[in-house]
Amino acid sequence: MRLSIIGTGYVGLVTGACFAKLGHTVICVDIDPEKVQKINNSIPPIYEQGLDNLLSTYKENLTATTDYQTALKTTDVTFLCVGTPAMKNGSIDISYLKEATKQIATTLKNKQSWHLVVVKSTVLPGTTQQIVLPLLEKHSGKKVGTDIGLAMNPEFLKEGVAIQDFLQPDRIVIGFYDEKSRTTLRELYKNFACSIVETSLSAAEMIKYASNAFLATKISFINEIGNLCKKLGIDTYEVATGMGLDSRIGRPFLDSGIGWGGSCFPKDVDALITWAKEIKEPTRIIESTKQINADQPLRLIKILQKHFPKLKGKTIGILGLAFKPDTDDIRDSRAIPIVKELLRNGAQIKAYDPQAMDNFKTLFPTIEYCESATDVLSSDAILITTKWKEFTTLNFQGKIVIDGRRLDQAKNAKIYEGVCW
Ligand code: NAD
Repeated sequence: MRLSIIGTGYVGLVTGACFAKLGHTVICVDIDPEKVQKINNSIPPIYEQGLDNLLSTYKENLTATTDYQTALKTTDVTFLCVGTPAMKNGSIDISYLKEATKQIATTLKNKQSWHLVVVKSTVLPGTTQQIVLPLLEKHSGKKVGTDIGLAMNPEFLKEGVAIQDFLQPDRIVIGFYDEKSRTTLRELYKNFACSIVETSLSAAEMIKYASNAFLATKISFINEIGNLCKKLGIDTYEVATGMGLDSRIGRPFLDSGIGWGGSCFPKDVDALITWAKEIKEPTRIIESTKQINADQPLRLIKILQKHFPKLKGKTIGILGLAFKPDTDDIRDSRAIPIVKELLRNGAQIKAYDPQAMDNFKTLFPTIEYCESATDVLSSDAILITTKWKEFTTLNFQGKIVIDGRRLDQAKNAKIYEGVCW
């Protein structure tokens, strides 16, 4: 098929590159000319394992442009993958989505053939039908359902393993407005081995929010159990193994530690809570999930203060700034509240991350960034905040290590304590 992708962030570019690999002709659109140039030179603007290889191998059928006209006139299906970032009030900012929709609609005004618009960005239930649909009709002068198809196809990829997740998903959700949109997407995804769930537009939107809220809850739940286990002298990871073998529960997302971050869980959980307030429905479980997650990283500092009641003037090493390993994404990384709290207490910070230091520098330009993980080890104490594989080869002997991520190799440190163990 001939596909256009609007927005070339983690979701858009991975979607585009994977569809190109599957033999489709893909044109990516972004408002950022620098990203567009990089993609056309087969350089990924983000760090995601395997993306560089896909961009160079499939460059014949993957191009990028800033021009909607170029992209839409030669393609039949457009995926909307622009960001829907958090706003201060907890809801999401859909201004990028609205702007991109307007641009798509204006471009489709002069197109004769049927065109399918697929929302892939994470949006609150009702958005595709109540906001995207009217904008498409208003600015194109066409009718959605006859001249233009509309669908909602949420994305569940995990940064770090995004390509694998896209190509081998657990399921594909197709929310559709009209029959032709449903059959077009069915055809596009026909060679995927997983289940395909076909739903209403708003059920597709809700599946994404419910899934993320549930996964965040699973982590906060095991962190609460982990805090209990630590007090009782029980190994929370043994408990997780025992629980996880129950097929109704499953082992993933039962690693207790300093909690969840990233571009999705925090903003999706916030958006759900804020939206539920607007429609006057309580979200007691989800609010607790959020609260536990806010408290958890600060427990690491409390443990540190057992050894250094006064942090002023102490040098604290931070191993890991990305919100999880194998990504350069620092959005809502648990390292952020930890660094803030350390700075508030007057500590000096030496930090290292294999991929995320440039991004972290935009938030904390004045802390010291080390050239290697080994350089961090000269600090008075070391906090492990992201479980990068390269940290497993460090020699922690003689060091004080407070671990937020259960890095077993650090247990030979002079003093070692974990947040929940
Ligand atoms: P991102 O911020 O990394 O990328 C968004 C891109 O859209 C940017 O490159 C930006 O320049 C571009 N853009 C903004 N306005 C545009 C416009 N009018 N026209 C063309 N391009 C425009 O975002 P992301 O992390 O890829 O997330 C995209 C969406 O997917 C969000 O709704 C997010 O919640 C959802 N999502 C993200 C992930 C993830 O792991 N990152 C996973 C699943 C779903």
